[in-house]
Amino acid sequence: MRRARFAPLALLFLIQVNPAASQAQTEILGFTPASAKHESLVESRFKAIPTPTAERRQHRIFTAQPHVAGSKRNNELAEYIRNQWRMQGLEDVVIRRYDVYGTNPKSASLEMIAPTHYTALLRELPIDGDPDTKNHAISGAWLGMSISGEVTAPVVYAHSGNPEDYDLLRKNGIDVKGKIVLVRYSNPYSYRGFKALTAQREGAAAILIYSDPAEDGFRKGKVDPDGPWGPEYHIQRGSITYDFMVPGDPLTPGWASVPGAKRIPISQAVSAPKIMALPLSWHDARPLLQNMGGPKAPADWQGGLGFEYHLGGERAKVHLKIEMNNGTQPYYVVEGRIRGSQLPDEWIVLGNHRDAWVFGGVDPSSGTASMMEMTRALGALARRGMRPRRTIVVCSWDGEEVGLTGSTEWGEQFADELRKKAVAYINVDEATSGPNFHGQAVASLAPMLVETTRSLKVPSGKSLYEAWKETVSREKAEGAQSSQFSSSGVLDDSLADTRIGSGSDHTVFLNFIGMPVLGLGFEGDYGVYHSAYDDFFWINHFGDPGYHYHTLMSQLWGVTALRLANADLFPFDFATYAANIRQFVNALAKANENSVILSGESSKDSNNAVILSGARSDERAQSKDPVPSLDLTQVIEAIDNFEAAGKNLNASLSEKLAAGKIDPKLADQLNRGMMQVERNWLNPDGIPGRPWFKHILYGARYTYAHLELPGLTEAVEKKDWATAKQQAEILQSALEKNTKLLTDLDLLVSK
Ligand SMILES: [Zn+2]
Repeated sequence: MRRARFAPLALLFLIQVNPAASQAQTEILGFTPASAKHESLVESRFKAIPTPTAERRQHRIFTAQPHVAGSKRNNELAEYIRNQWRMQGLEDVVIRRYDVYGTNPKSASLEMIAPTHYTALLRELPIDGDPDTKNHAISGAWLGMSISGEVTAPVVYAHSGNPEDYDLLRKNGIDVKGKIVLVRYSNPYSYRGFKALTAQREGAAAILIYSDPAEDGFRKGKVDPDGPWGPEYHIQRGSITYDFMVPGDPLTPGWASVPGAKRIPISQAVSAPKIMALPLSWHDARPLLQNMGGPKAPADWQGGLGFEYHLGGERAKVHLKIEMNNGTQPYYVVEGRIRGSQLPDEWIVLGNHRDAWVFGGVDPSSGTASMMEMTRALGALARRGMRPRRTIVVCSWDGEEVGLTGSTEWGEQFADELRKKAVAYINVDEATSGPNFHGQAVASLAPMLVETTRSLKVPSGKSLYEAWKETVSREKAEGAQSSQFSSSGVLDDSLADTRIGSGSDHTVFLNFIGMPVLGLGFEGDYGVYHSAYDDFFWINHFGDPGYHYHTLMSQLWGVTALRLANADLFPFDFATYAANIRQFVNALAKANENSVILSGESSKDSNNAVILSGARSDERAQSKDPVPSLDLTQVIEAIDNFEAAGKNLNASLSEKLAAGKIDPKLADQLNRGMMQVERNWLNPDGIPGRPWFKHILYGARYTYAHLELPGLTEAVEKKDWATAKQQAEILQSALEKNTKLLTDLDLLVSK
């Protein structure tokens, strides 16, 4: 991938101005030289405002008490944010109410009754030196959207609780029907809701999900309070909502839960689980695992507790009782804005969720603190007359932890308006659990994100861009188990993660509304996720002592928003987007070598299912695999055309920008046109089986893992060739539509 728009611009600068003096300050994607100069000034004023002291003060307010979705404290914090935003100078600040199907714990108990007796604690013991962990408002063990019930049954160890794990149990003669399955959180990672659905489908009576020390505890390193990893008693709460089917309120799939809205009965809600579920610390899981009996578990099922794990089945028996209080309750989204001075009807939307499982030290209050300092700085600039050209809308979401609910309902409520006005959405969930930057972006915005990181500095003094490169090269080296990689070998186009799954509030904006999205976060060793130990103490000792990364996040988030808000022409790079889509198609073909074809020879090669290249089709002809074929040659051609149109437009826009003067009417036509590209990736029918998810390039697996070309990929994986062909045609026609759009825009520029 290349930054085709940037290269000619740089060249023109060398001719027109003194490069040494102005290059660093005046080259910004999407800006004329004069507006880039002004933008640099605005950004440097903006970056000077957030301070570590203020970040810490905000963080303390949000982490002072548990504030789960629907709680009194979380609703008070909504009012706090509203009042702060008004004082900071934000406009039209309102609290929006959604009456959603919420979830609350009443009581839970777990007892092993055979072969020995053990009563599970189901709570997290206080840690010396961290007074917050003594707070009586800390909840016990619970999982959002578990059903209520009571059961006495044998326990089976089902490893990670994925479908293949149950296959292995079956091979060992173990049926989980009517039994209680004990699974661990990761290894490999999958969303707990998918574990719950899999257990439900297998006919299990209940699921227990525990944190094995091999994943986030002492096997990783020192545990809290001596290190960042999870201690013996830490419990990972979380929701098990089947939001991979449809996120948001289970009773209003596809429309907003405003008071009085139509609701479906809970029995018809596909995203509402129908199984009892409870999380455990390893302290409580250990006695069960030790007494499990049955065949020895395979090597990769063994965990970090220092004894042999067994599959169970008959020996260990437990009595489990869960009482939930699930039902309709209000969630509150706080919304505010800085009205644009010139283009108030073009919106840059920013958001962070407010609700936390307990204190939410990292998740989400590090993000909330960063947001409050960012909005303070935006408000201060506006007061000084430095108002963004476009409107910046900021939202504090509720109930993200329970099925992405607040952002989904808000997005559904304003979908039509957002499709007209929204330029992009920038999400910050966990702002800081360590110093390693991770940036996500739809590929059209990846180059501008990379460029933005060049203008920010990490605490050591080097640029965020350099630090990002080092992080990516280190992670690549770790992934390849070698130290061959150096940061100089990392290309700019491999920095941003352009494969976007689900699991946070960007979902409705990308997958339902068709907005380009960005996601920003600093990460590090973090073993206390969704536990009571994820708190103020943890951030001050491990996550971000000194709050420098919180401050950097406020700066980065705001500068990224300001660039989109102030650009003369949007910094979208559609040539990069095309190259990225080609990678997606190539990866799909590679993973299905015997069934996907990408070359023109496909018609001769009916033995194979998906077609990509000439070389491979020879091998396939020899293998005589009788599966039907899927030929993606025309899709690849459509991608090539889209890329060419993107390159042409990049070049034309660069020239226009470098020339320094753009007729406002032309700029408006170009920008409006570019905003349409992402919308054109939506299929109104959605992906097969999941109509809410409308984006044809981005989706998520049930595990939350990213899933590119979701409709096409799932059809290929199921070997449903009729659907696969249909999905390929939908992709091809979207590519053609966007190619025409870019070509028309290019004609406008050259006129
Ligand atoms: Zn979160």
